[in-house]
Amino acid sequence: MTSSLVKQAARAQAAVRRRGLFASLSASEWAATIEDFDGKCAYCDRPYWTLDHFIPMVAGGPSWVGNCVPSCQTCNNSKGRLTPRYVFFVPKKRIEQIRYYLERRQHGFRSWPPPVELAIHEELEALSTTPQKKGLGSSRDG
Ligand SMILES: [Zn+2]
Repeated sequence: MTSSLVKQAARAQAAVRRRGLFASLSASEWAATIEDFDGKCAYCDRPYWTLDHFIPMVAGGPSWVGNCVPSCQTCNNSKGRLTPRYVFFVPKKRIEQIRYYLERRQHGFRSWPPPVELAIHEELEALSTTPQKKGLGSSRDG
């Protein structure tokens, strides 16, 4: 395991804790996630560069295995504060695959604080019901 992996996981935890959210991602969990994506960006297949919170921290997304995927800098910047249902630069099928992956990663985390768990599930549920629309620029504001 490289020191950069440890640093990425630690940085993600620190950022989440600053917002008062639960943070649990360990370096080994992060390493396993990167391996699951073959070291590539979850959104576009370019080499991964950074850690992306599938549900952004501003929307309450915590740093845990059920919410973190590898991302290239371009996708990370493009995604910004958007929750998954508003990420239109990625094909919806791809978003669904990531969602499915993260749901599987959530097994064994039943002790997760209920409000956060609920928020995540609501977001994931919304993903499967929200049609792809273009031009919802206002979602970037909050
Ligand atoms: Zn990418």
